[in-house]
Amino acid sequence: MGLLSQGSPLSWEDTKRHADHVRRHGILQFLHIYHAVKDRHKDVLKWGDEVEYMLVSFDHENKKVQLLLSGGEVLETLQEKGERTNPNHPTLWRPEYGSYMIEGTPGQPYGGTMSEFNTVEANMRKRRKEATSILEENQALCTITSFPRLGCPGFTTPEYKPNPVEGGASKSLFFPDEAINKHPRFSTLTRNIRHRRGEKVVINVPIFKDKNTPSPFIETFPEDDEAAKASKPDHIYMDAMGFGMGNCCLQVTFQACSISEARYLYDQLATICPIVMALSAASPFYRGYVSDIDCRWGVISASVDDRTREERGLEPLKNNNYRISKSRYDSIDSYLSKCGEKYNDIDLTIDKEIYEQLLQEGIDHLLAQHVAHLFIRDPLTLFEEKINLDDANESDHFENIQSTNWQTMRFKPPPPNSDIGWRVEFRPMEVQLTDFENSAYVVFVVLLTRVILSYKLDFLIPLSKVDENMKVAQKRDAVLRGMFYFRKDICKGGNAVVEGCGKAQNSTEPPVEEYALMSIDTIINGKEGVFPGLIPILNSYLENMEVDVDTRCSILNYLKLIKKRASGELMTVARWMREFIANHPDYKQDSVITDEMNYSLISKCNQIANELCECPELLGSAFRKVKYSGSKTDSSN
Ligand code: GLU
Ligand code: MG
Repeated sequence: MGLLSQGSPLSWEDTKRHADHVRRHGILQFLHIYHAVKDRHKDVLKWGDEVEYMLVSFDHENKKVQLLLSGGEVLETLQEKGERTNPNHPTLWRPEYGSYMIEGTPGQPYGGTMSEFNTVEANMRKRRKEATSILEENQALCTITSFPRLGCPGFTTPEYKPNPVEGGASKSLFFPDEAINKHPRFSTLTRNIRHRRGEKVVINVPIFKDKNTPSPFIETFPEDDEAAKASKPDHIYMDAMGFGMGNCCLQVTFQACSISEARYLYDQLATICPIVMALSAASPFYRGYVSDIDCRWGVISASVDDRTREERGLEPLKNNNYRISKSRYDSIDSYLSKCGEKYNDIDLTIDKEIYEQLLQEGIDHLLAQHVAHLFIRDPLTLFEEKINLDDANESDHFENIQSTNWQTMRFKPPPPNSDIGWRVEFRPMEVQLTDFENSAYVVFVVLLTRVILSYKLDFLIPLSKVDENMKVAQKRDAVLRGMFYFRKDICKGGNAVVEGCGKAQNSTEPPVEEYALMSIDTIINGKEGVFPGLIPILNSYLENMEVDVDTRCSILNYLKLIKKRASGELMTVARWMREFIANHPDYKQDSVITDEMNYSLISKCNQIANELCECPELLGSAFRKVKYSGSKTDSSN
């Protein structure tokens, strides 16, 4: 979740005093990087995935599962045995927000050859095995997006009571500070977001109304003024950063050949975000209740929303500079490539001075406004020892603002003095239960980038439509029921080049609607006369590529999973979890997930992840068997 500095974190009041300093030097740092590497051309696409994990502990006797708060120690051991012992170790481990979370990535980025697609799953399995090997018998490493009983009494081990008093980090009625990573960055972020906002964060997720769910569904919090005011009827109320950033996701980062290729990919993939998010939906339960949403996105967005009442438009501007329409964790607000310019139809709040400064330094309008938009935010954490930096050789102030703009896509300049190129990060996906699924989603997205670049595809639609898609994508069963704006003619770019914009349009012609509402099935699998479908395009690309038999077989299996999830032949994780709970003998059709139901669900997830049982509704059966019967991937573990 971004960079970690050691030292003494400053309070919000002190951080605020240095906000202009951080922004000023952050921009200087960006300019140093930009001028040094703007012309860098790399010839290969490199890429890597990030998987976030939760540690859980089973109490089989009492049928209870809890989040295990030993992420710090587990991480220490993994790093000690791994990268610190051997710089070429195949896995890398990083901290995450929860003290029950860790994050794993491959030790080295993957390269540009097709055969690399056949190593992703083996590497993910290695990670799971490595981390599991240092856990105790009754403990497990899970790839679940949101823990169903997060925030319910006794959801952690050791157990802690939330302490809703000022002075703590979250001040939550439900989420104890002990569940936050012990590194001071995380509790400071939590506290400073709350202080900057002027009140606790507010998350209200619509509850799923089952037969016996009270209607209206109302929880009362008489002991807490803020909660009493903020909680809404028919919603599951949550009040801490941990309810959002304590969720897990699956991300992919690509290194592009050049800055212009990175900008092109950033834009193209931005339109894909809501589609793949809906396809990856895996988080239907919050605070022990069945919700009416399938994805974590809006929950995290609200959980780190540091905007003041003025910035949110609830009070006239007096102490703040801008109205800001979105949380720091949200979808992107502007395209970055020339082709995207005409589709930038969202009002963009920018820091005008920074924008002018960037223009004067020779940066073009689109990139300048992107950076000037990110920099409307204040730094949220600052370490006393890290205020005065060498702007030519460090980038902490730039990264401070950049890494707390958690958007669907992230455009990443190279670190100073490194041989890393311009990168983009794809951030919307929910993490899946198994390494097979996670590999499938990752390979699908990476292959899509290859096809976008090779065939010069153009997915762009007005950005406001992508935002509408983001809203639809999070709804229950969006993958089957949602309709999404998507571009009809994606080859229209015809002779487009990365720097250019495809065919010139005759400006006297009335604009034809370039996009239409489509189902995910149509977008992914295609529909005669409507849209060719992403999977058929990927398949035809594959047919034209030299790929060894084994890799081809793996890739086809991955694409089959995506295809079947899109058509509804297989369930999303969210749908599967809903059915599991609905069919649980203890379930009273009242939207409540008890400790015992949670235990059954997470045990089942753990069995599926470790291949101790099949789950054809989720994974299919036929093509998994082919995959695992003595294939190379298997034996290389
Ligand atoms: N856990 C966050 C999510 O689910 C992402 C944190 C990060 O940026 O690494 O989106
Ligand atoms: Mg992360």
